[in-house]
Amino acid sequence: MTVDTDILIVGAGHSGAQAAIGLRNAHYDGRITVLGDEDQLPYERPPLSKDYLAGEKSFERLLIRQQAFWLERKIDIVTKCKVTAVDPQAHTVFSEDGSAYRYQHLIWAAGGRARTLDCSGAKAKGVFTVRTRDDADHLAAALPTASSVVIVGGGYVGLETAAVLRKLGKRVTLLESGSRVLSRVAGEALSMFYEDQHRQQGVDVRLNVQIEALELDSSNVVEGVRLCSGEVIPAEVVVVGIGIIPNAEPLLAAGAAGGNGVWVDEYCRTSLSDIYAIGDAALHASIWCDGAPTRIESVQNAADMATTVARSLTGTFEPYGAIPWFWSQQYDLKLQTVGLSKGYDEAVMRGDPVERSFSVIYLKQGKVIAMDCVNAMKDFVQGKGLVQAGALIPASKLSDIGISLKSMV
Ligand code: FAD
Repeated sequence: MTVDTDILIVGAGHSGAQAAIGLRNAHYDGRITVLGDEDQLPYERPPLSKDYLAGEKSFERLLIRQQAFWLERKIDIVTKCKVTAVDPQAHTVFSEDGSAYRYQHLIWAAGGRARTLDCSGAKAKGVFTVRTRDDADHLAAALPTASSVVIVGGGYVGLETAAVLRKLGKRVTLLESGSRVLSRVAGEALSMFYEDQHRQQGVDVRLNVQIEALELDSSNVVEGVRLCSGEVIPAEVVVVGIGIIPNAEPLLAAGAAGGNGVWVDEYCRTSLSDIYAIGDAALHASIWCDGAPTRIESVQNAADMATTVARSLTGTFEPYGAIPWFWSQQYDLKLQTVGLSKGYDEAVMRGDPVERSFSVIYLKQGKVIAMDCVNAMKDFVQGKGLVQAGALIPASKLSDIGISLKSMV
């Protein structure tokens, strides 16, 4: 089968859906086809490790738009369609089932897939990741008969999953190979705060641990995690949250520049003509990080890159420069971050972690470059301007909770 379309979007996730919506909002009236390899309409991933996993939110409420929306706007969403190859000269992509899709413009929005463990037993029954609806459903189905869970990885997904599982009454051990949790994205003070909070909630947080193998029973079901120290931690369920691998291979094989993602310029154009890349799969020079090659895994980045491309394709050229922001929910703690703290040389504490409401403000050569705000919505809203401006404010002033951040902008 060969299908002709005008704008082809590969990936029916956050960025793919937002690109299609953005095109129609900009009155684009050509044909739009979205190919997604999952068996679902586009949905929000953040709840998968939060209220959806906790059973507090239905899948219906995760849908980015209902079926009727896509039909009304003539956005053709093809599910269970995995793209395996791209021919940029012929402006054609090929899917696993042998179909060909010819396009005028291609938007690559294929996100990433969960990284898995590389040790004996890693593919056994009882071992889960949390990336897709299916992942979360399979994990949830295994929970009623499990009392002990080991979570591998102290990033946001691992920590959020730990919080949900504690709430469900599971015995939870969290294993982190580094010396602190959240080390890739946050400063030491925030890491220590979250380690402490999880321990207070009963999570056994272990740092600097290496896994040797997963122990299996005679039916190939996981029953424990063997550490390099020789210790075996019993577990009926193991959740692996150790990051993602960008889904970029078909585009890279077609000659697109990149590596850890597909390289894009400020308009999200790849090195191949008429092909754009957005969302978790796109690697760009971030203006919020001195132009360093950056791949941002967040809803904000997915949505804003989608908007950049939708505007470019409808004649409004605005370079991508949206300020990065992110959130995480663990127990009753709402974390909101703005900016990128990578490369900071000073971290200022504003408020007291003991109060469970505070902000960490990151400075580089005196300039405010990022903030992590815990149960501190006001700081998040008011401090955004400081990050945006790269404001030069003395640490003593930033740490003074008697002075509002708004007054410093
Ligand atoms: P995705 O939303 O992953 O969509 C990509 C789609 O493309 C997927 O459906 C994938 O299956 C499909 N696909 C891949 N390869 C192919 C192919 N070859 N052919 C066809 N289809 C393909 N961000 C936040 O800002 N805040 C949060 O609190 C937060 N929590 C998260 C919690 C979890 C558990 C997860 C997994 C992510 C979370 N994120 C959060 C990150 C956020 O969800 C992602 O950054 C966002 O979904 C990226 O959008 P995307 O379109 O690039 O990728």
